[in-house]
This record gives sequence, C-alpha cells and structure tokens, in this order.
Amino acid sequence: MAGIYIHIPFCKKACTYCDFHFSTSLKYAEEMTDAICKELILKKGRITEQVGSIYFGGGTPSVLDTPYLARIFHTLTQHYSIASDAEITIETNPDDLTAKKISELKQLPVNRFSIGTQSFFDEDLLWMNRAHNANEAETSIKRSQDAGFENLSIDLIYGYPILTDLKWEHNIRKAIELQTPHISAYSLTVEPKTVLASNIRKGRQVPINDDQSAEQFQTLIQKLDLAGFEHYEISNYSLPGKYAVHNTNYWRGVPYLGIGPSAHGFDGTNRYLNIANNPRYLEQLNKDRLAETVEELTQLDRLNEYIMTALRTMWGIDLEKIKASYGKTFYEETVYNIKPFLERNWITQQEQKILLTPEGKLFADHIASELFLLDEHEK
Ligand code: SF4
Repeated sequence: MAGIYIHIPFCKKACTYCDFHFSTSLKYAEEMTDAICKELILKKGRITEQVGSIYFGGGTPSVLDTPYLARIFHTLTQHYSIASDAEITIETNPDDLTAKKISELKQLPVNRFSIGTQSFFDEDLLWMNRAHNANEAETSIKRSQDAGFENLSIDLIYGYPILTDLKWEHNIRKAIELQTPHISAYSLTVEPKTVLASNIRKGRQVPINDDQSAEQFQTLIQKLDLAGFEHYEISNYSLPGKYAVHNTNYWRGVPYLGIGPSAHGFDGTNRYLNIANNPRYLEQLNKDRLAETVEELTQLDRLNEYIMTALRTMWGIDLEKIKASYGKTFYEETVYNIKPFLERNWITQQEQKILLTPEGKLFADHIASELFLLDEHEK
C-alpha cells in the first residue's frame, strides 16, 4: 500500500535549531490549502494502489484551521482509495492541542498524533524558542488521551548544552509515565543555516558536546528497553507492534506521494522534490502546474539509500535482498565492505541480516557511508 505525505509549511515561531521549510505568517493559509488540494488532484494518477498511510508533517499542521484540514481530507477521500485501517497521522504542537482543537480533530479521519513535546522543562523549551511551555507539554498528551487518541507519538530532543543528565532522565521518565506507545528522540544536530549555528559561530552559544549526546543516547536506549520499548530505528522506539506505519514504509522503499512545498515523493524508481518556497509553489499550482523537479535514481542510488535506511532499523540490511534486487557484484562488494565493522563489533551478522550492535548504533551514519557502493568511475 502506498503513502501520502502532506507538508503544511506554517509554524507559530521559528525554533532555533530548525531547518525545515516553514513560514511564520499564516497569511496564505487558504491559498495553500487550495494549492495542496489541487496538487492532490493533479497527482492522483501516480497512485494506483490503496493508500495505507497519510502523514501531515511540516511545519506545524496543527496551526492550520480545522476547516482547511477538512478540505484536504475531503479531496483525499474524493480522489484516492484509502484503506479502512490506514494510519493517518498529524504532527501537532502542544500549545495547539487545546480541548477545542482536539475535539475538532476528532471529527476528522485522523487516528494518530505526533506531538512535538521535545522537553518537559520550561528553560529548555525557552532555549529552543518553542511556542509551548512545560505544562502544555504534559497536558497536551493527557488531554489527547482523555479524548480517545491512544495512538500517540511524542518527540524528544537530547544532546543540547543545557540538558543535564538528570534533566534528561526526568524527560525519559516522564515520557514513560505518560504511556505514549511511540517515542521519537533526536540528538540535536546543528544545521548550517539556523539561528543556533549562527549563535555558535558568534560565540554566543557553546557547541554541542558529542560525548554528552552519545551518553544521553545510551541512557535513553537502556531506560526505554527496561520500559518495554523496542528500539526499531535509530531515532524511534515503540511498544511492541506500535511502529509508525508511514515511516516504516518509507524505510522499506514503499512508494509515497509528496504534497505541499518542500515535500518529497518516491514512486519506487524516481524521487520528486517540490519547491521549498511558498509563493513560488502557489504560483505554479495557480497555473495548474506541479512545482517539482524529478531526480532519476540510478540502481546504485537506490541501493545506497537502502543501505542507509535499512542499517538504521532493527530489521537491518538483508544481503539476500541486495543479491536478488541489485546483483551478485554489489552483493559481493557489500560482503567485503562489512568485514572491518564485523571485526570492530559495530555490526553483527545473523544469517543474511546485517544489524548494528549497541556500540555500532553510535556510529550508524558513519558505517552506512562507509558501506556505500561507488560507481566504477568514482573509485
Ligand atoms: S515547530 Fe517544528 S517545523 Fe516549526 S520551527 Fe519548530 S522544529 Fe521547525
């Protein structure tokens, strides 16, 4: 079954570390809704199978007025065959999840919230320039559960300078107590074009400490393991079976449509990249044109993407799949490339599966990049 990702490019405030595409002005919310609906219609021929997951990401989809979200759902149900058990997720921020908003969202086919909690400490949220406070971080989760939204995921961030180990343990404990079946936790990375990067460059902010980040990552793995969570992807943990369908399909190479400014799509062969600019996106859609470029992926591109995403999951890299889908030469090269990491005990081989060891999880991106295969002329 295919997926649909819809990017809602609006946020209330700009978080200091964020390099996603968004605008803090909601002036064009109505035009954007119309354009997104139009793009859904223009692209409907690209999906012939049933839709098994729909994901509203951003930006902050919960800042969009509910009637606009309802219009997008109306277009979806008119033009796509959506499975009755499809996972339908909306990213939300705690300050948006008022009782009124939750009851409005309850009227839509949404069945999963991904809540941008990040921390349960006011000073940390202030440091990040988040729009919510610690009280809202907690009450938004409880309020959603009381309204019958059981399938919740919360985001947490670690590895930032003012997060002491004690505070991090408190955040993990709090997340476990709140009984959300899914937690996504990200090590703070400094993206070049962000306020955070500029503050570090100007000496107003101390740089990120990689050792602290690695220790907090290990604490997280241990505590969530004890609480019964499966570490099913480097940044994702769930109670058994509560994996995020949309993300899991993405890591498995299932096709999905990308709708809205900056959204990416994948049809099993090519990648589609929408323009990351709201006025130019609107301008194209107003002319009934798509605002995308197509990136043709070579077999090697697809294999390297498979290596990068599969290695990060608890299902690992399947050597049989590499042999069957990409050929004997790439298979043999991969078998050769994994040797140093097997010796270092960063990965382990279980029959034809290559999995990260606990130590290897600290170096997932480095290992993946070393396993990438090169074109003959790149060697
Ligand atoms: S709410 Fe999310 S998308 Fe918006 S600025 Fe903050 S991190 Fe970025």
